[in-house]
Amino acid sequence: MECPKCESSQVVRLPPSQISPHPGYRCTDCGLKMRESGMLFVYIIVLVIGLAVGGLFVSMAIARENDNFPYRGLWLAGAGLVVAGYSAMQIARPAPLSKPKLDKEE
Ligand SMILES: [Zn+2]
Repeated sequence: MECPKCESSQVVRLPPSQISPHPGYRCTDCGLKMRESGMLFVYIIVLVIGLAVGGLFVSMAIARENDNFPYRGLWLAGAGLVVAGYSAMQIARPAPLSKPKLDKEE
């Protein structure tokens, strides 16, 4: 794999994070972070679901302001928005360039 910015082949896989088991890659030369190639579709789906959960909760909160506000649902809305934000960040990142078989691939 190659870094799309500096064309270095020093692209390392990031360790799994709390949010995603496939957090992507990082270039050790210029520090550019990249998403897992092939994960774009997954991140788009997760972004949509996250926004839907977060948005649904916000609209519920507005609709029943004084009533039985579902405070227990707050963490779910928060998690939805965090995951949506994370996905948006990953979508914005470039994917590493896949190199023809000159190097050892995983
Ligand atoms: Zn780089």
